[in-house]
Amino acid sequence: MYVVPTSGPEIDLCRVCQMMWFDIYEIDDLPRRAEGEIQAEQWKTELRRVQARRAAQRQFDQRMQDRRIHAIYGGFGGGWF
Ligand SMILES: [Zn+2]
Repeated sequence: MYVVPTSGPEIDLCRVCQMMWFDIYEIDDLPRRAEGEIQAEQWKTELRRVQARRAAQRQFDQRMQDRRIHAIYGGFGGGWF
């Protein structure tokens, strides 16, 4: 069992299954995040998702473009492409 400090009470955490143990009322004393904080985190997650999607799209576009170049010039020009 680990004892994990928070800005509120210490939390007991199982080393094996990472289950957290709370004493009675301990959960009520846990620090809570402000609504703005939670929203900011959701926006950050969404932003990362969008960035990952764009990067994947760019990679795909590049692959398609390389393929077109191969289709047009492949076999010509002594292996330049
Ligand atoms: Zn456990």
